[in-house]
Amino acid sequence: MPELPEAEANRRRVEAMCLNRTIVSVEAGDDVQYITLPGGNARQRLVGHQFTETRRHGKLIFAGSKTGPWIAVHLGMSGSLRPYDDGGKTPDYRKLIIAFEGDRRLAFRCPRKLGWVHVIDDPETFIRDEGYGPDALEISREAFRDVIGGTRGAVKSALMDQKKLAGIGNLWSDEILFQTGTSPTAKAADLDGDRLDALHDKMPRVLEAVAATDMDYSKLPGDWLIPNRTEGADCPVCDGTIVKRKVGGRTSYFCDTHQA
Ligand SMILES: [Zn+2]
Repeated sequence: MPELPEAEANRRRVEAMCLNRTIVSVEAGDDVQYITLPGGNARQRLVGHQFTETRRHGKLIFAGSKTGPWIAVHLGMSGSLRPYDDGGKTPDYRKLIIAFEGDRRLAFRCPRKLGWVHVIDDPETFIRDEGYGPDALEISREAFRDVIGGTRGAVKSALMDQKKLAGIGNLWSDEILFQTGTSPTAKAADLDGDRLDALHDKMPRVLEAVAATDMDYSKLPGDWLIPNRTEGADCPVCDGTIVKRKVGGRTSYFCDTHQA
């Protein structure tokens, strides 16, 4: 399921291939009844405008311009933004197709449910109104100590709560906890300041390294959890074993020894 690094990789694609081109049409794709998409009037607002900048907050991707409008995109369980050229290879599962002048197109590809696209006035207002916490790459050490250290529940659940901290989901919370030797079930409020700082330091390193792979996780180091994320696997950094347990309703993988 896409998290901050995957959203960032998608944003970079849009930034590289879709800026400064006048939008000539915005059409819904096929089989869109399970996807929240802008209606005809909202889609029409984009026509004649250009995207001149992109932004990302947590798992959300934005493209627009100083005076708007913007698109806000959530990739859901398996969505992606796919720039392509008309006449070339066309992405499947297209739910929204933005046509720029010339051949360039931007598709919102979404084979499963839960992804969405809105047309909005500006990202700041949208982020505030929806109640998202600070972005995981931007939160200060002090704010991280306050917001995560002030949570009664499991640290994994706290890291994944988008209202506290935006961008982290099931996969990369497990990785950050693994690399800092933190049990996912530990109560966040019980972690000391050094542990909270270690999590805060490790978080951007993990997220930026993942974003740099453009979703090819085979490029990630072999001593990370991700290539060993199987119940019963040998821990790549100690003599322990990788175990699987539900934490806050989500399946968590962790080492039974160095994350105890
Ligand atoms: Zn271990």
